[in-house]
Amino acid sequence: MIKFLDLQSINKKYKQDLMAAFERVIDSGWFIMGEELKNFESNFANYCGVKHAIGVANGLDALVLIIRAYKEMGVFKDGDEILVPANTYIASILAISANNLIPILVEPCLKTFNIDPLLIEKSLTTKTRAILPVHLYGQLAEMEVILRIAKKYNLKVIEDCAQAHGASANGKMAGSFGDASGFSFYPGKNLGALGDGGAITTNDEELASTLRALINYGSTLKYENFFKGVNSRLDEIQAAFLDVKLKHLDEDTALKRSIANRFINEIKNNKIVLPIIKEQESHVWHLFVVRTEDRLALQKYLNFNGIQTVIHYPIPPHKQKAYKELNDLNFVISEKIHKEVLSLPLGPTMTKGDVDLIISIINLY
Ligand SMILES: *Cc1c(COP(=O)(O)O)cnc(C)c1O
Repeated sequence: MIKFLDLQSINKKYKQDLMAAFERVIDSGWFIMGEELKNFESNFANYCGVKHAIGVANGLDALVLIIRAYKEMGVFKDGDEILVPANTYIASILAISANNLIPILVEPCLKTFNIDPLLIEKSLTTKTRAILPVHLYGQLAEMEVILRIAKKYNLKVIEDCAQAHGASANGKMAGSFGDASGFSFYPGKNLGALGDGGAITTNDEELASTLRALINYGSTLKYENFFKGVNSRLDEIQAAFLDVKLKHLDEDTALKRSIANRFINEIKNNKIVLPIIKEQESHVWHLFVVRTEDRLALQKYLNFNGIQTVIHYPIPPHKQKAYKELNDLNFVISEKIHKEVLSLPLGPTMTKGDVDLIISIINLY
């Protein structure tokens, strides 16, 4: 069986360095908010080309806390609206509603799976305060257009970079376009910890210092609380692991990119619609997502032939029970995407044989 994502072999490549990091942290006797975190935050901020990276407990918290911090700063208030793509992973939307703000869903482009920039202006109301683009499956959203609209209407831009570590356009990195960005280090993400983790990147000093307090019970001075904060911190051990893997992120991305390019050039089957990319650097291939009319048949066929696939995602957020208030809305493009998408195996440790097999099996379908 070709696994959808082989995390065992992906982490095995770095096992020696990960073990050394593990030992260093054990021997230090310091497990929360220490040198490992400081070092990783600094390296990750440099990597993204921003002033501040703030480690948090997971990617959802990263997005929730950015919005929360803007509320504490008086930029957002209850009932304000944030535009978000209708086909995103539900976490982007949860981050908005968790703060008592209103998610306004916007249809994606069928070609890129990202928020349709032409529909953004039509979705604005007097209550719109921000756009939350998601670089879905690893491909940058149309940031140039999004930033232009945001500037025109004085909106904040919050990037959901959970799937796009290292994606770039003209040398500018994911996480450096917007006012603030949320990253996830969930084990299966492009930069994955050995457990949960996340980070926020920003160039905004006030936002960064508000966040530093919010993630730590609302306190930056021991036993003095400025906000009703939370506990959302990135452990020393995860920061140490992530720093090992950050050094190899671009290599791993290059390996995935070359496999994705083979899929794009060599898969030839008119029942299958391949993903489209703008520039090589703008896509880091968190997922290789194809569309097909009879998805179940394709998935069964591939499974029968030893190829594991996953659906990202089977149910649109507006049709989830959790969002009853949205259940009556219709998003035709998003619903089509949710019905037709299938993610093929794609990982930096896949062999040439694996890739050959996937291509030939699909071409015979
Ligand atoms: C994974 C993911 C998140 C949430 O990250 P967690 O670390 O799992 O909380 C948010 N948005 C998107 C698009 C994701 O893929």
